Amino acid sequence: MAPHHRPTHDPQLRNDMPNQTVAVLGLGAMGSAIAARLRDTGHDTAVWNRTAAKTAPHAEAGSRAAATVAEAAASSDVVLVVLLDHGSVREHLEPVAAELKDKVVVNLTTTTPNEARSTAAWAAEHGLTYLDGAIMATPDMIGTPVSRLLYSGERAAFDAAHEVLATLGAADYEGEDAGLASLKDMALLTSMYQLFSGFIQAAAMMRTVGVPAVATAGEVSGWLGAILPHLDQFAAVIDSRDYSGGQSADFTRAAIGSLITASREQGVGADFLEPLLSRLDELSATGRGGADWTAVNEQLAIR
Ligand code: NAP
Repeated sequence: MAPHHRPTHDPQLRNDMPNQTVAVLGLGAMGSAIAARLRDTGHDTAVWNRTAAKTAPHAEAGSRAAATVAEAAASSDVVLVVLLDHGSVREHLEPVAAELKDKVVVNLTTTTPNEARSTAAWAAEHGLTYLDGAIMATPDMIGTPVSRLLYSGERAAFDAAHEVLATLGAADYEGEDAGLASLKDMALLTSMYQLFSGFIQAAAMMRTVGVPAVATAGEVSGWLGAILPHLDQFAAVIDSRDYSGGQSADFTRAAIGSLITASREQGVGADFLEPLLSRLDELSATGRGGADWTAVNEQLAIR
């Protein structure tokens, strides 16, 4: 790989290392934010998008609009892929494997861990330098101190592209298994959506007595802020697999049962809570009602 020297216009960002040239494949909300951030940090960028019209504002702002993926990759050291999903990534990378040799290909598209591993295996078969990434940020966060991106796969690929990756946000390398970044991304999003769905049910409950969701949001934020430090205690129990202490499954069954009843009394379904009660019922039915309720984590294993 031969980095092309493109001096930045921002003296704050100048250093002795030449900036790498970057191709951004995909100019949706996220790809556009990434391309803009790379331009702002003095990177020479080539952009490609399936719907070519979306390259126009980027060309006006200083990127080179490429008509094809191969054209975008040709002038670039690092190829960032920011498409919709696994299918679109494979559709557009497979025909140009030869053109991606000697580049660092970083796939920032959200995929599952096994999809990431599959693309990494495909890349290895073709002798490509490949890294999988997961973006723990929204487009407006890219390049700000709260932006974080996870990477996994070849360490050499991470190191080679680090200068570019560091401009997007904190760049955390998770390990050689290409699925690791995606797995952590999916685990964090799993906890996020279940937390948000809890808020949505709370808002529906409070709306039955005329309380606006915005007021419930403030209450939920305050309550969760107070209670979240308990995660560390739960984690210690789960890691030890010693469920002999703590809040019992039977106590928690009663608590969750009351929440479900209260919700229904207000005419609001408790669909998000019912699976948890079922798992607690299972613990009790198998003689483990006295165990710490976090023992439900053991029942999530698909047998
Ligand atoms: P988006 O605004 O919906 O843009 C989707 C992009 O994918 C567009 O460039 C679209 O091209 C392209 N695309 C869709 N299907 C395609 C296909 N079959 N072939 C080629 N290109 C195709 O999505 P986004 O927000 O930019 O998200 C891009 C990726 O970043 C996703 O994997 C998303 O999960 C991930 N991500 C996004 C966020 C976020 O907050 N937005 C946060 C974290 C991760 P056209 O313009 O031609 O339709």
